[in-house]
Amino acid sequence: MGDSLHDSGGRGHPARVQADVLPAPLRCVAVFCGSNFGSSPHYAEATRSLGRALGERGIGLVYGGTHMGLMGVLADAALEAGADVTGIINRRLHERGHLHARITRHEIVSDMRVRKARMGELADAFIALPGGLGTLEELFEAATLTQLGDHSGRAAKACGALNVGGFFDPMRALLDRAVAEGFMKSAHNDMIVMSPDPHQLLDALAGWQAPVVNKWITPSQGTGS
Ligand code: AMP
Repeated sequence: MGDSLHDSGGRGHPARVQADVLPAPLRCVAVFCGSNFGSSPHYAEATRSLGRALGERGIGLVYGGTHMGLMGVLADAALEAGADVTGIINRRLHERGHLHARITRHEIVSDMRVRKARMGELADAFIALPGGLGTLEELFEAATLTQLGDHSGRAAKACGALNVGGFFDPMRALLDRAVAEGFMKSAHNDMIVMSPDPHQLLDALAGWQAPVVNKWITPSQGTGS
């Protein structure tokens, strides 16, 4: 499946390439966000508006399953707006009592890696809200799998970030640097959708098409821009 999105000089399967670059219906979105609240009330406000937007659009939420920090705020808002909410939580956090008590359903899995894989299976697209290491790692893993065309079910899935108060601007700057230094192509930087507005972000993810470019940069291409 890994080559199916790439302009691999005739090695791919045209029908599959076609299907996997077209926009996918957004039935379920995986959201990654801080298990802390952040220092400003704006983070919780923006999290609530994303949860509400999911409910209003009839889009299911899959997330880490906890009541902690922004994750709990998101689940509460999505449930209140009528969204179907699935939590995938690992055994250790479940035993510590971190499971949100009111979500629609949950699954308990062995560890964080299995948990990410399961969230990825269920999701049509991924959104990161502000958060720390866990959030950033999850967004980058989802984007990496899209870049390689290696998600389960559908080779490439849309990835985005709700750019609350410019929180993700330094991430974009770092990725711009990676492009300028020849470590990634600009198409793979641009494919991570960013917007401060939940509805605009969901619209962009719903209309998203995977870039049909190979991940690797040959020496003759220089930088990836
Ligand atoms: P962080 O940004 O470091 O707070 O980590 C948040 C991300 O890591 C979330 O998107 C979760 O998927 C995962 N995570 C961290 N803490 C928890 C927790 N208590 N329960 C479930 N998932 C968690």
